[in-house]
Amino acid sequence: MLRSMLEAFKNLFKPVRTIQYPAEDIVLPNGYRGLIEYGIDECIFCDKCEKVCPPGAILFYQHEGGEKEYRYNPWLCIYCGECVRACPKPEEALWQSETKQRSAVKEDGANEGWFVYEDACKKSRQRYVEAKKADKIQNKSEE
Ligand code: SF4
Ligand code: SF4
Repeated sequence: MLRSMLEAFKNLFKPVRTIQYPAEDIVLPNGYRGLIEYGIDECIFCDKCEKVCPPGAILFYQHEGGEKEYRYNPWLCIYCGECVRACPKPEEALWQSETKQRSAVKEDGANEGWFVYEDACKKSRQRYVEAKKADKIQNKSEE
């Protein structure tokens, strides 16, 4: 009891370790692993980042023409870096920012909207695969 009181008293004279976030900026340590950054021009759309992401924070939507659209949810991301490790073009197509942080305020629908979008992405892939199969069958029957 006396020991903990002494410790508490000593703490009164130590520098303050807490900050008034988000009013004050956080000082990031060296080697900080921040938000995921994406370089569309270098991406080869292999989907490896999407497959390895534990919480499903990266998704690709497939349009009818075949082109894929990248989306990233910073509120789901746990900054594990698995996506960057899996990416065949790390630092060019995908990397972890050393400074960028997500905003303190969550966007409306950041979670619920994301799960709806996840479903839409899955369906977009199925649609695309089925359309490709149908094209193949049609081409064969025309030969
Ligand atoms: S850092 Fe981890 S959680 Fe975040 S997008 Fe990459 S794999 Fe997913
Ligand atoms: S792993 Fe890299 S190259 Fe592959 S889809 Fe993701 S960002 Fe693009």
